[in-house]
Amino acid sequence: MSEWIPRDKQAAVCFSIDDIHPGKSSDAYEAGGDLNKGVLGRLCWLLRRHPKLETTLFVTADWREISPHPTRRILSRIPGLRDRVYLTPILPEGTMHLARHPRFVQFLRSMPRTSVGLHGLHHVRKGLKPLVEFQDESVEQCRRTLASAIAVFRQAGIDFVPGMCPPAWNAPPNLLEAMAQLGLTFVASARDVRTAVDSAAVTNMSGMKGMPLIYPQRIQGGRMVQITSNFAANNPIDRALQIVESGGLLAIKAHAVKEAFGRTAIDGLDELYANYLDILLSTLEDRYGDSLWWTSMHKIAERMLVPIPLRKAS
Ligand SMILES: [Zn+2]
Repeated sequence: MSEWIPRDKQAAVCFSIDDIHPGKSSDAYEAGGDLNKGVLGRLCWLLRRHPKLETTLFVTADWREISPHPTRRILSRIPGLRDRVYLTPILPEGTMHLARHPRFVQFLRSMPRTSVGLHGLHHVRKGLKPLVEFQDESVEQCRRTLASAIAVFRQAGIDFVPGMCPPAWNAPPNLLEAMAQLGLTFVASARDVRTAVDSAAVTNMSGMKGMPLIYPQRIQGGRMVQITSNFAANNPIDRALQIVESGGLLAIKAHAVKEAFGRTAIDGLDELYANYLDILLSTLEDRYGDSLWWTSMHKIAERMLVPIPLRKAS
């Protein structure tokens, strides 16, 4: 099998942002809809200052979430019923459908070194965990939801890369199987910004547990690659340097939304985090130069899933 990193590179860097959708600051929250004046503008600034940086935007096909936690408190106490209703207010279907936001789509398409991956269909569901879109569905149900999301991207005219960061990072086995069956090649499920960096360290925070902390890993019988996000706004630069010194993949994560319903995302890409990333990326460029592989999740997956050519019989 091919190695995950080119031989002349010491370590790798990739960057991804979750929850991108056409929400504007005049909606419940801004998540890309303000274009150059919002989170995408801050990303463009980083891309201009760091010409090797590549980004993967995990975009939701038809975002319906408003509140990240249940707000219907009485209903949420009634077992059975609470699993059959939305316990938060949600947007009507189609409000944030990508095909209805052509300026947003056009802006995404114009961004340099930026790939779009999947981040669920609606980013909300019925029951107590409204953000965890994929839970106990069958493979067939997961396939249908994914196919609907993919159809939205096609209708909107977005070229997307074949991978997903599942909402709330939850990737149960049936979802992984459905993804592999549909030909998706990578999943960004595991997220661990706490476990100490070590070449043998495994993940134990959000999403898939027991995955390598600093290396991509083939899963689903070699049909897909799992990539762990291992760095965010609340980590010191030393953590990034340790990952690089260990020959790993530094996978930096950010979120599109900073504040929603009284909840603050530490790694929401506000100006402060953008400035911090600017310093981090400059440090990496100065110290390591061309020995770093500035890449993206789908390029890593592409490299790792190259079919092994059959040897000629001699
Ligand atoms: Zn999300």
